[in-house]
Amino acid sequence: MNPEARKAALRFLFAPLVDKLGYKFTPVEEDADFLLEQEAALEAETGIPYCPCQARTKDRAENMRIVCPCIPFHRRHYDAMKRCWCGLFVHKDVTDPDKLKQIPENKLDLTDAH
Ligand code: SF4
Repeated sequence: MNPEARKAALRFLFAPLVDKLGYKFTPVEEDADFLLEQEAALEAETGIPYCPCQARTKDRAENMRIVCPCIPFHRRHYDAMKRCWCGLFVHKDVTDPDKLKQIPENKLDLTDAH
């Protein structure tokens, strides 16, 4: 499948999944397009639409936690940021994703305190 068609297919597949989790695609179309392109390339290479922003390891079980959309595996972390790690998905009420910060999980408690 050509990359553009696969990007469209991933969009179609992911939209209802993330909708049920309270998320939507980022309204920054350029970012969504770029990230989907990376995912389509990873999928073409590995057979799996891995996260374009998180490194794979040799541990298959660990790698399954970064198959897109990985929100269920990182719910607390992403809900606190109102975005997934890459920013491909944001909470449904987000209108300006540029205002959201990418916060490492181990820094969450500090940020939660404010
Ligand atoms: S961080 Fe976002 S783009 Fe990356 S796999 Fe998870 S849901 Fe997909």
